[in-house]
Amino acid sequence: MKLIFLGPPGAGKGTLAARVVEILKVPHISTGAIFRSAIAEKSPLGLKVQAIIGGGGLVDDETTIALIRERLDREDARGGYILDGFPRTIPQAEALAAFSPVDRVVNFDIPDSAVLERLSGRRVCRNCGVNYHITFNKPKQEKVCDRCGGEVYTRDDDREEAVAKRLEVYRAQTAPLIGFYRDQGILVDVDARPAVEAVLAAFKQALHIRI
Ligand code: AMP
Repeated sequence: MKLIFLGPPGAGKGTLAARVVEILKVPHISTGAIFRSAIAEKSPLGLKVQAIIGGGGLVDDETTIALIRERLDREDARGGYILDGFPRTIPQAEALAAFSPVDRVVNFDIPDSAVLERLSGRRVCRNCGVNYHITFNKPKQEKVCDRCGGEVYTRDDDREEAVAKRLEVYRAQTAPLIGFYRDQGILVDVDARPAVEAVLAAFKQALHIRI
């Protein structure tokens, strides 16, 4: 199954994707995570996008589309995938439709107030990318990832100034994708406010997944 997870930053797309990949056995492809590892490696891509991401803006469509196109061409994505954080603009969605049309788009519905609460407490593993929250989902040992032992830190773009900008960018550039996919009849809405288990159950029900 080829899926897009659509929703504002902090809606829980990455957290749910980490659960769903175990069920569907498809890769979780997060453009944000790919950009963050490029930044950590100080690769040419990383150096190019670091300031943009830190400020809460969007990387240009051409760079992002080329990156995802190359990623979806790999063997492991042939049987399906979960796209988390892509597409984020109408031109990205149009490009994707031309090279890899998806089956379903899951719209994570959540108000800004809940997003702000989640992002201000979000922490992430620098090594494997798994998400934590200082109140709702703490690592067992402070600042140490339960899964891989990596360092758990606050993303630069989860700082207050960048968060406001990211929400504004989401509403202006990404939210129009809700109508774009609804018109195609492939959008399903999931209430993203509850805890992850309930969101997972709603997701499975919306997609008729019985495992
Ligand atoms: P995320 O981890 O999805 O919140 O992404 C973190 C940041 O990476 C975003 O705020 C953007 O700066 C950049 N980014 C991720 N995906 C895209 C995309 N599809 N288009 C443009 N920029 C992106």
